[in-house]
Order: sequence, then C-alpha cells, then structure tokens
Amino acid sequence: MVFTPPSYVPQLPDIPDSITIEEFLRDEKHGRLLPLAKSRNPYTCGLTGKTYTAVQVAERTDLLARAIGKRLGFNLHEETEWERVVAIYSVNAIDYLPFTHAIHRLSGIVTPASAAYSAQELEHQLRTSGAKAVFTCTPLLDNALKAADAVGIPRDRIFIVPVSGFDNPAPYVTIDDLVAEGSKLPPLKPLHWIKGQGARQTAYLCYSSGTSGMPKAVMISHANVIANVLQVFHFESIPRKQISVETQNYLGVLPFSHIYALVLVCTLGQFRGDQAIVLPKYNFDDLLGATQRFGIEQLFVVPPMLIHVISNPDKVAKYNLSSVRFVYCGAAPLGPEVVDSLLKMFPKWRIGQGYGMTECSPTVCTTSELDVLSGSSGSLLPGKRAKLIDLEGKEVTTYDTPGELLVQSPAVVLGYLNNEKANAETFLHHEDGRWLRTGDEVIIRKSAQGHEHIIVVDRIKELIKTKGHQVAPAELEAHLLSHPYVSDCAVIPVHDTYAGEVPKAYVVKSDTECSGKSDKDIEAAVQKHVKEHKAKHKWLAGGIEFIDAIPKSPSGKILRRLLRDKEKKARQAN
Ligand code: AMP
Repeated sequence: MVFTPPSYVPQLPDIPDSITIEEFLRDEKHGRLLPLAKSRNPYTCGLTGKTYTAVQVAERTDLLARAIGKRLGFNLHEETEWERVVAIYSVNAIDYLPFTHAIHRLSGIVTPASAAYSAQELEHQLRTSGAKAVFTCTPLLDNALKAADAVGIPRDRIFIVPVSGFDNPAPYVTIDDLVAEGSKLPPLKPLHWIKGQGARQTAYLCYSSGTSGMPKAVMISHANVIANVLQVFHFESIPRKQISVETQNYLGVLPFSHIYALVLVCTLGQFRGDQAIVLPKYNFDDLLGATQRFGIEQLFVVPPMLIHVISNPDKVAKYNLSSVRFVYCGAAPLGPEVVDSLLKMFPKWRIGQGYGMTECSPTVCTTSELDVLSGSSGSLLPGKRAKLIDLEGKEVTTYDTPGELLVQSPAVVLGYLNNEKANAETFLHHEDGRWLRTGDEVIIRKSAQGHEHIIVVDRIKELIKTKGHQVAPAELEAHLLSHPYVSDCAVIPVHDTYAGEVPKAYVVKSDTECSGKSDKDIEAAVQKHVKEHKAKHKWLAGGIEFIDAIPKSPSGKILRRLLRDKEKKARQAN
C-alpha cells in the first residue's frame, strides 16, 4: 500500500535539474519567487544588527566566488567537482549561506561540519570528504588548524568567517578580504549545466550515521535541495495565502551545518524573500532578546528550546514576544504536553511540527493548520510516496499498524560517498522504484477530515538524538573500546526530559587493566576519555553501567533492543 499526500496538497511542479542552488536563488527565470529588490534582507545578525540587502548578498556571493576560485586554483575544465570540496566549520554567521552559494557558483561541493565538533571529529570529516580548504571562525580556529594539519591542508587554505564579538586573527584571510579581492577580478563565466546535471551533482556533503554505523558523508544534490524547498513551499502555500503572508522574518538559531537549517530554514527563506535573524549559537537570553528586538514572526526550533520556554515563565514574561505568529519544531519528537503548555502561555501561537532526515534533504512531512491531529508529525509533502514494512519486510496495509517508513521523493539523496554497503542497506530497489529506509517506526492514521498522517512511534535504527543532534552509538563504542579499561561495550539512548535522549554506555571492564581499581575511578576515567575527544552532545550524560557481557546475536551483532527494554523497564519502575 503506497501512501501519497492528501488531496488538498497542490501538485509539485517539475524540479529544475540543470541549475545550481545558487542560480535557483538568484534568478527569477530559474525559479526565484520574488525579485531580489522586493525581498527582505536575507541575513541579519541578531546580536549586532549587521545586515545586507538581497541585492548585496547576490553581489557578495559573486565576488566571493571569483576570489575563492582564484585562490584555490579551481579549474572547471580539467577537474571534477570532487577536486572542489570545501569545508565550513563555523558557528552561524550572516555569510554562511552566501559562502556555500559561492562554492556552488564554482560548481564545487560544500561539506558543513558541526561547530560542536572536536578537532578529531572535524579531522574525520575533512579526511573522508576530501576537503581542499576550510572556512572557520575565530573561536574554532585552534580546532580547525589541528584537524587541517592532520589531513595536510596548508595554512593558506584556512579562511575566516567573521562572527560578532571576535576579532579576525592575522594572518588569515577573511570573507570580507575575499569579497574585496573579488571586486578586482573579472566576472566568472556562466556554468551552463546540461539537463540532469543538477540531479547528478552533489551540492552538500552532510554527515549522518543513517540506519547504522559511523557518521557517513551523505551526497545531497542541487536538485534534492531545490525539490525539498519546493515541496515545503507548495505544501505551505495554502495556509500562507489564507493569512496573506508574503514575506516574513524568522529566527536563524539552529546550526546552519545541519540540513534542517541549511535547507528548510535558510534556503527556503531566501527563496521566498524572507529575512533570517541569525544567532551564532543557541542561548536562551539571546533568543528572547532577538525575538523582541527584531519582532520575529516565525521561530524554527528543536524541542529542548520549547522546553526552556515552558520551564522559565518568569524570564519569558519579561520579553515582548507578541510578534511571533508561527513556531516550527523538528528534528526530534515534540510531546503534546509541551504544545499544550505553550498554547496556555501563548494562545495565539500556531505550532507546527515536521519530521525528516538528512537522507531526505530533509523534510518528509509537516503538520498543516488545515488538518490537525494530536501527536502527528504531519502529512506527506507533494511529490512524496511512502510505504511501511514490518519486521519480515512485508508491506503494512492497515492504518494504525506500526512499520518501518520507506520514502520515495525527488529529495531523497544520491547516497553515501564511497560506501556501497551502507547504500545497499539504505536505498532499496523495489519493482516500483528506489526507496529510502528511514529506520523509523511509524503508524499512518486518518484525521477527522480523512487525511493520512504520519505518527512516529519509535526508532528502529541505532541512532540517538540529543537536543536534535545525531549521536552514532557505533562511533562512541569504537572510541570507548580504545580505552584500556574497556573490553566490550554498547551505547544506547536513555530518556531525558530536556534533551529528549542522551547516550548511556554499558561497559564490560577489562579484568587485567581494572584490577584493584574502584568502579568510581574507572567510570571517571572513561567519562574523561569521551569528554576529551567528543562533542558535548556525545558525552555519556546517561551514565555508565558495568555489565558482565554485552548481549549479542550469534553473528556478533549487539542486541540493543534488549538493553533498551531493560532501560525502559527500570524507568517505568521508578
Ligand atoms: P537527522 O538526519 O539528523 O535529521 O535525523 C533524522 C532522524 O531524527 C529521523 O530519522 C528520526 O529518527 C528523528 N526525527 C526527526 N524529526 C522527528 C520528529 N518530528 N519526530 C520524531 N523523530 C524525528
């Protein structure tokens, strides 16, 4: 049984597949919605108010591309795009997206790395993506240099993205320097891609662990991004028309390195002619302050940010948040009780939820005000098809019966870079085409209006999501095993009211190395080992439990479900 979008959802137009994302956003003849001159300023710093008009952003992007192309010696005729992979490892900044579009203008590939990453984690991304240069910001420069040194990227290929509150350290060249340099260089020749190139060529290499294993480079094409922008745009066009919103401003606080912010927040916003109020990173006071100062109309958030709002009513009451019209939450489940508490505080807010994943560029379904169902992550966007399979791989054909969600869409990514095993496991070739396995257990339920909704009930895949960030158990397990005290281990998610989930490790102690040592000392040493090398959201906030043996299948696969059930039972008993 194949599920399709509800009847009220408009059809998806043909996806332009011979242009880059940059052309799509620059030019009305390629799809851009509003003329640049009629658009709001695309990116404004929420701390300093620094801003550029849409026309200036397009110019900056062009000049930046000229200078980057020259400095990095890009030669579009003699090399493939894989020689033009450039990393960005920065907190959010008003130049973040213009930088990515400059690389696309050069027919290159951007690999955005989480600003939470340690030097070691960044090194993994630089090495596996084949990045040739790194754009970073002053607070992350030390880590960027360590990682770049480790993979042999020379110092003259490290550039600085200016961020508020930090000086730009000499001798590094900044984005502003490059823009000035570009103004003295000749214009670039147009790309003139042939039909289909936009669907074949990778625009972004984002990292995701997918349904299992280590974080992997996900190849997201130009057409994938354009498709998802158009899917969400057309899905939302009816409610937006009803409340006559043409352009709006919105909060740009989610990490721009993650596909949710990169595509759904920034690219869609720029396409519509909206204005992002950019905050370098999440800080509750900055969020409230910027919302009041700029009269922000739409908030894009993850559930912990909303939990902050409901748990700090006194602080929230000090700010005027009456400009907020719509709050959109994604990346992790949002409990109905959180929505109820928010609506008690702000009865006029409309709260929407979406479900997606990196491998779907990212949005699969979102809620619509026309058709509300409690607990639902919404209905399929136009151009999507979905089916559910049970544990034996048989199609689920009835409503309200759980199964793993499979998705088909022009936004489903090209695959994982250099990883045929993961590609074969994740992208299934059925008689009716190529399907993405989401690793999420869902049910399909009909609303009172008779429309089909997706309700996420559980996660089958190993992935842990902490405050919307991915934590791959396999990555933490490999790291834990490198400590002499650990002879075997398994990492699973445990519930956390604020973060949603946090990682917990089950550890089998090494007899020889741990003899004579207390459990407290062993635990402290292992925790330190994680804290020293891994991003904060990967720290073992769920604790460490010592165990005699990790439950495994005869083939050696960790039986995570047994450990997760054990956790659930312990939680219910408390
Ligand atoms: P990422 O690739 O980092 O975007 O993570 C994707 C995963 O996050 C999905 O496969 C789900 O497991 C989880 N996720 C995203 N949105 C939701 C949601 N609305 N409800 C429940 N889980 C979600």
